[in-house]
Amino acid sequence: MVLKLLRQFNRAYGYAVFGIYLVAFGIAFLFVFIFPPATLALLFISIFGLLFFNVLGFMLRTIERRWNRARLDKGRCPECGAAALSAIVGGAGGVRCGACDAMHDAQGAWIKPELREAVAVQA
Ligand SMILES: [Zn+2]
Repeated sequence: MVLKLLRQFNRAYGYAVFGIYLVAFGIAFLFVFIFPPATLALLFISIFGLLFFNVLGFMLRTIERRWNRARLDKGRCPECGAAALSAIVGGAGGVRCGACDAMHDAQGAWIKPELREAVAVQA
């Protein structure tokens, strides 16, 4: 349960941080007319906030990878729990789940599935 929440949060993390910065931009824009020093303060908070969000994202991804690796070491898929793992050909230790088709590399990181380009069918 916690792993599922962490996984979903990690996959949406970039969008969440972008949303926070968008809201901060809106607040800073309003403060330009009301109280200009607040805009300057928000600017510097945002710049140093990037470091904070980067470190937080790295920590969350590391926790998820370790959790995934613990499950992969037991031979179970971290996504669905099925014991149907197979090695990815040329994946350098990566595994693919036969049940849900999720892929993880040797460090436990989730591998985003590639969307194949649609091929035009000639009639
Ligand atoms: Zn699976």
